[in-house]
Amino acid sequence: MKAARLHEAGSDFVIEDVPTPEPGPGEVLIRIGGAGACHSDLHVKSGDIPGVAFPHTLGHENAGWIESFGPGAEDNGFEVGDAVVVFGGWGCGHCRFCLGGKEQLCNTFLWGGMGPEGGYAEYMVVPSVRHLLQAGALHPAEAAALTDAALTPYSAVKKALPHLVPGTSAVLIGAGGLGQYGVQFLKLLSPAKVIVVDTDEKKRETASELGADVTVDPRDADAAEQIRAAAGEDGVAAVLDFVGIDATMALGAEAVDRLGIFVLVGLAGGSFPYSFFSFAAEAVMTTSNWGTRNELEEVLALAHSGRLVSAIEQHPLSAINEVFERLATGQVPGRAVLVP
Ligand code: NAD
Ligand code: ZN
Ligand code: ZN
Repeated sequence: MKAARLHEAGSDFVIEDVPTPEPGPGEVLIRIGGAGACHSDLHVKSGDIPGVAFPHTLGHENAGWIESFGPGAEDNGFEVGDAVVVFGGWGCGHCRFCLGGKEQLCNTFLWGGMGPEGGYAEYMVVPSVRHLLQAGALHPAEAAALTDAALTPYSAVKKALPHLVPGTSAVLIGAGGLGQYGVQFLKLLSPAKVIVVDTDEKKRETASELGADVTVDPRDADAAEQIRAAAGEDGVAAVLDFVGIDATMALGAEAVDRLGIFVLVGLAGGSFPYSFFSFAAEAVMTTSNWGTRNELEEVLALAHSGRLVSAIEQHPLSAINEVFERLATGQVPGRAVLVP
């Protein structure tokens, strides 16, 4: 089969012929219908995320069709040919994190496409049918981005929801592949005013189309003042940072009000000084790691209800290096999906 392989950080992907994998006991072989090009893969490609053993087939936002079952994997409610989306946070299945439904936090760290081979290929092995969900009427190339670009902000927004009482505002920083969905979840699920911060004018325009109440360019000298003015007296109860550099974390930490929450999603490696007096009283700070399988089920339900807009562009897998070049230079309007 064809696979786009990364041989080392800093290099381009190489399209290679590799043996089509055989599903082992309990495993399922998926024919990939679409694999989303996530900024996290750009971090791996640039060497910002260590720990991935090369050569590697990346691609952790996957959907496709069931090609075949390994021994013992049949008769689980799925049939060969079913259109499925792949939950990628694979764990051991029996530790307290997995049993608690947070399999993506399992210490085995077996995220498909970030360790085990991923979906920038014609086929991919999934270790268990429990990681598959029916795509239903959604075409895999449209559904792929739901498994991360939508699931991750969904999980982040759910962490913020208890703070977002009527009258408060939410600040979303970085309205790209993930942020475009984040804006919609905030509007669909919370009563908060949504303030979107992005350096890119087009991304701010798209965010407005998706329901953002106010947009702010963080390069404006008075960006923090614009956020404060837009939020008004009840303040900013949640900040969701989909960038994660020092500057966005500083802006977000300054914006979040008492009893609020700062949810860090972006993996750019930034930090902010945290002290009793530098952060609002009794505000909390958390990271948000991907999402749970149940949350993916909820995202799929929203997608099936027709209330989720996906700005997706499809490209052949052979164009992977051009796609990542465009992602690196901020030219992908929503999510680019690679189709083998
Ligand atoms: P993307 O490239 O599609 O979008 C990034 C957006 O941030 C763009 O709209 C860009 O214009 C904007 N931006 C860049 N610099 C900015 C700045 N200084 N201020 C405001 N906006 C700025 O990326 P994506 O695929 O949406 O991923 C976003 C981040 O989330 C990445 O760091 C990625 O690795 C991370 N991520 C984390 C998880 C997780 O589980 N925590 C999961 C997936 C992705
Ligand atoms: Zn991702
Ligand atoms: Zn586990």
